[in-house]
Amino acid sequence: MHELGIANSVLEAVRTEMGLHPGTYPCKVGVRIGEMAAVDPESLRFCFEAIVRETDLESLELGIEFCPRRHRCLLCGNEFVVHDYDSHCPRCATLETTCISGDELELAYLEVEEYGSSTAGKKSTQ
Ligand SMILES: [Zn+2]
Repeated sequence: MHELGIANSVLEAVRTEMGLHPGTYPCKVGVRIGEMAAVDPESLRFCFEAIVRETDLESLELGIEFCPRRHRCLLCGNEFVVHDYDSHCPRCATLETTCISGDELELAYLEVEEYGSSTAGKKSTQ
């Protein structure tokens, strides 16, 4: 399953990141998934929860940011969301548009908390 591999890479990235920040533990990891990345957010969440279960990262929450496909018009500079593969510029109707986002598959953020401080000390790392 495609999503299982992605869930594993996300966890690997979290563990690498945690190695750089001793004394902290991760509470939430965010991933950005583009519409064209062919990843099913629900399957990804399911796989993620299955592999963190009964590990030290069991309490880690997964946040998913879904990014629609966006194009920018080469003529008027308009940026718009593409629906149903129709990449015409809605402002000037040209087909001369270029894809600027929608194929993301990346770690967006990681929220960590410091051991011993349950209230203060919440911060995000990129
Ligand atoms: Zn245009």
